[in-house]
Amino acid sequence: MPGLTLVPVGAVPAGFLSALSARIVSLFAFETVRARDPLDPSFSRDPERGQLHSTRLLEALAAACPPGDGERILGVADADLFIPILTFVFGEAQLSGPAAVLSLTRLRPEFYGLPRDDSVLLARTVKEALHELGHTYGLLHCRRPDCVMRASTNAGEVDLKPALFCRSCAAATRS
Ligand SMILES: [Zn+2]
Ligand SMILES: [Zn+2]
Repeated sequence: MPGLTLVPVGAVPAGFLSALSARIVSLFAFETVRARDPLDPSFSRDPERGQLHSTRLLEALAAACPPGDGERILGVADADLFIPILTFVFGEAQLSGPAAVLSLTRLRPEFYGLPRDDSVLLARTVKEALHELGHTYGLLHCRRPDCVMRASTNAGEVDLKPALFCRSCAAATRS
């Protein structure tokens, strides 16, 4: 039965990861979620930008993915991510590949000067996890407002979409 391996990238609160894995199991097709020891992200840190290069993290995560049909691996970083052409990314995934990574940094209300709210953080993180995992099933961005595969460029847009795939995107995640 395909499973998801959840990897803290650097230090991430254990309670947060177990809450995230419980939500992913209830919303996604995985039968199991396995926790892994943290991945030290220092190899991916760009000294000029002070951010982690998400594509390098994806390569390391893909190499750590257990073998087997349908296996996926998701890294969760409490640090800002980038790819060279963009200021930042909420996350990145291998299209039709096993690995995805997301950042908590810009999902935190306190990043925008608002009070800390861990339930908002968890709700956004679940959506970002489903979205990036959707890409690993070959899904591109979806225009439907009722679909988690809709593109988001800021946290407000993440809040507007549901933690659900539309019917046609959901079909792809089960194939
Ligand atoms: Zn996307
Ligand atoms: Zn969709």
